[in-house]
Amino acid sequence: MRRDHRIAMRAVQLVRIGKPLQEVELSVPKIGPSDVLIRIAAAGICHSDEHYRAGISNIDHLPVTLGHEVAGTVEKVGGEVANLAPGDRVCVHYLVHCGHCHFCTAGLEQFCCTVQMIGKHRDGGYAEFIRVPGKNAFALPDEISFEIGAIMMCSSATAFHALNKARLKSGESVAIFGLGGLGFSALQLSQAFDCGQVYVVEVNRAKLQLAARLGAVAIDAKASDPVEQIKEGTAGKGVDVSLELIGSATTMRQAVLCLGVRGRAALIGLTKESMSIFPYTELINKEAEIIGVSDHLASELPVLLEFARSGKLRFPPETLRVVDLEANQVNAALDALQDSIDHVRTVIISGE
Ligand SMILES: [Zn+2]
Ligand SMILES: [Zn+2]
Repeated sequence: MRRDHRIAMRAVQLVRIGKPLQEVELSVPKIGPSDVLIRIAAAGICHSDEHYRAGISNIDHLPVTLGHEVAGTVEKVGGEVANLAPGDRVCVHYLVHCGHCHFCTAGLEQFCCTVQMIGKHRDGGYAEFIRVPGKNAFALPDEISFEIGAIMMCSSATAFHALNKARLKSGESVAIFGLGGLGFSALQLSQAFDCGQVYVVEVNRAKLQLAARLGAVAIDAKASDPVEQIKEGTAGKGVDVSLELIGSATTMRQAVLCLGVRGRAALIGLTKESMSIFPYTELINKEAEIIGVSDHLASELPVLLEFARSGKLRFPPETLRVVDLEANQVNAALDALQDSIDHVRTVIISGE
């Protein structure tokens, strides 16, 4: 293995809100006893990175290296890290948590009192190296490429958490609102849960065709009321689980209305709009539930990685696009994300 003990590295940072990211030279991070240093092989460019650059989502200190979808090879391990060694392939859980507060001890580390998101509160993956706590690095099986390992750490992990929160059981029907990055994983993961019929609600013709190819019933929301179409498809019963991945009050309401008796609507998409509900007829009468979903848990990642290793979660080559760790290319990819909820993901490949 190469051991060149680099002291400087390239990174692409958010320096000013609303301005293009800049290429900078930084010191290779020094690690503490519980940390690992990872030589980054792949870093996903996420929709939320575009929101940080544009100032739509707040970022409290600048400059910061963006990138919370990270995979690479362990370069160095701290003295207290027993489960990893230099040369290990890993992917990174993006929430750094304390491990001992009330929420962490309950296994709910996304609510940790001091939680920090990699690529937002601390430097992320748009760089050659990253320092993370050893407990945030998860073994990446050889069957999964670095690019796929990286992108799974965000949208796939959150889609998986949503299905867990909605308690999807084998044989149950599912309605997915929106076939972007989250929906693409949610559809395949629902099938990996051995679900019943899946309905995908979309307005985009290519995405409706993709949904049908993946075995779902494609519901064209432009053709007629999607709730009526789902009710028709389920002989009037409605679905057991619905996932709202778009972030609109209209589709959130549809996700509730399409539920059957004891149905669960998991809301993942973000919006500042409010939504109205008629509690008696829409929730109480059928014991339906509306469930909020935020991020995901470290404990879910090994199961998710196993779904990908065994081929139940796939990302065909046409769903991935790669760019170099170079400011112009990264900014162009962020520009392209401004108006799209594509299932095609762009990944930065770090050259040697
Ligand atoms: Zn992301
Ligand atoms: Zn904590």
